[in-house]
Amino acid sequence: MGNLTFAIIKPDAVRAGNTGNIIQRINDAGFKLRAMKTLHLTQREAEGFYAVHRERPFFAGLTEFMSSAPCVVMVLEKDRAVKAWRDLMGATDPAKADEGTLRKEFGASVGENATHGSDSDENAAIEIAYFFSQLELV
Ligand code: UDP
Ligand code: MG
Repeated sequence: MGNLTFAIIKPDAVRAGNTGNIIQRINDAGFKLRAMKTLHLTQREAEGFYAVHRERPFFAGLTEFMSSAPCVVMVLEKDRAVKAWRDLMGATDPAKADEGTLRKEFGASVGENATHGSDSDENAAIEIAYFFSQLELV
């Protein structure tokens, strides 16, 4: 599974009209788009997705934000996809993200930071399965 990762274009980026720009950047960086759909998460669904952060102080705000508007969920394929996608996204806090990264360009704050990416192959598999069935991976 080392060549797949799970990505989200978060509600802030969709709302700002940056979906197309981000997909273009994904293509330019050499990822294959194996699956993609737009959906509007309920807060309960966002809580399930971010369950590992349940005890963190930002959990309520994060899950409220993630369910505030539609987002775009994707499965990306590339060699060592988890790291490649996190490199393209940049640091969690856009203010600390490197020049040329998606969060630097499209993120507004540590919470509203435009994109999500899995942090390990193991979590990529769990996150892909949360949103997609095997039949949806092309
Ligand atoms: N987050 C937040 N405040 C923080 C840290 C994180 O609102 O102080 C949000 C932010 O949207 C981040 C998500 O919680 O992307 C998950 O946090 P994580 O530490 O896993 O960062 P990521 O893996 O997304 O870079
Ligand atoms: Mg994370």
